[in-house]
Amino acid sequence: MLPAMHAPDDTIFALASGRGRAGVAVVRVSGPGAGAALQQLAGRLPPPRLAQLARLSDPADGEAIDQALVLWFPAPASFTGEDVVEFHVHGGPAVVSGLVLALARLPGLRPAVEGEFTRRAFENGKLDLTGAEALADLVAAETAAQRRQALRQLSGTLGTLYGGWRDRLVRTLAHTEAAIDFPDEDLDPRLERAALEAAAGIAADIARHLADGGRGERLREGLDVAILGAPNVGKSSLLNLLAGRDAAIVAEVAGTTRDVIEVQLDLGGWPLVLADTAGLRASDDVVELEGMRRAAARAERADVRLILVDARTWPEMPPAVAALCGADALIVANKIDLLAGPLRADASGRLPLPLSVTSSEGLPALLAALEQAAAERLDAGQAPVLTRTRHRLALEEALAALERACVPGVRAPELRAEDLRQAVRAIGRILGRVDVEDILDVVFGEFCIGK
Ligand code: GDP
Repeated sequence: MLPAMHAPDDTIFALASGRGRAGVAVVRVSGPGAGAALQQLAGRLPPPRLAQLARLSDPADGEAIDQALVLWFPAPASFTGEDVVEFHVHGGPAVVSGLVLALARLPGLRPAVEGEFTRRAFENGKLDLTGAEALADLVAAETAAQRRQALRQLSGTLGTLYGGWRDRLVRTLAHTEAAIDFPDEDLDPRLERAALEAAAGIAADIARHLADGGRGERLREGLDVAILGAPNVGKSSLLNLLAGRDAAIVAEVAGTTRDVIEVQLDLGGWPLVLADTAGLRASDDVVELEGMRRAAARAERADVRLILVDARTWPEMPPAVAALCGADALIVANKIDLLAGPLRADASGRLPLPLSVTSSEGLPALLAALEQAAAERLDAGQAPVLTRTRHRLALEEALAALERACVPGVRAPELRAEDLRQAVRAIGRILGRVDVEDILDVVFGEFCIGK
């Protein structure tokens, strides 16, 4: 847990790169004691923002630690806005622990807690909360599309959009409050009308932004693809083929997958979460029924339902499977290597994608179909997209308040001003510009130490 308040003279340090053996490890120090720490370990303070080679030794006993690159970023031109020092040392565990121990022994220095560097950057106005979240997303990004989204957000696209709405609402609020505070001043009634129109315009912008089908949030999580079908059609085999490793148990006995097994996949830069589910068939085995219940729940919330059928029996299938073959389902007929004739269409002329997991025939077409499904549901182009439920909830609150404010002629100006204030507060919360304490821990808790 983060301390709610920092002593301003605290100097923090942490390993900023990954743990374990590596070519280079980076240890970062931030706070008023950073420069002195560098001076004591390296014997001098290099010129600002220029990498310099230095021999580091522990000031306590003179013991050599490493031959390293050191960087000195005096405040405020640093990541945190404080004095910052970076030690780029050789990434051996003994080097890192020697350096960290030497730093810990210096007076006024202490190890950083999760997200503390970024939190200081936020508190010193280096980035808003959407920027801090973008950093967390960038560190967590596993596919190219996730990386692009995080980078866009880090460059300030979301912060600028929300900040723009907030600033416009603050102006509208000022006009409304002027009408309340100076009722005798005979303020131009057009001002009030203009204020209302502005609020309605922002409400429309927010509503459009919210109606994005959850693209940004889904891109962070990965597109949820459920593999569904009767037992023994090859669901586990398909998952293993796609995952390139034995993630699910494949067996000849029907009904072996009784839980939901997931693998993550990077398809053309899009993140997919594939889930293998229990086979759907009539059964009275309690464990199997529980597996089927989970499969049904998974089917319910999946973004894409991949229905696997046996090419030889298609279009016949258990009613539970047929019920899932809606227009948006991706139907795949497996085991075409065992099919004697051509694949038939069903009564409505529907022809599944042909596949043989055994021979990999049809796999490129299936991957292309999945990639297309991902692009359709995740691609937001260049537009700034909502990436977190936290943003969505705040914007929904702002929208509801604005809709109340915009009911023409009915709302008393005082109530209308309160609505606008609530909308300003809600949007400000996304950026961290008001009432932030309660959400700070949530945001920075996502970081690991050293970020
Ligand atoms: P699940 O119950 O739907 O998960 O099915 P499994 O993946 O366990 O597969 C059932 C059986 O079908 C296994 O013996 C697989 O080796 C076999 N199988 C899976 N896909 C194919 C295929 O494309 N062709 C052939 N000939 N056999 C397959």
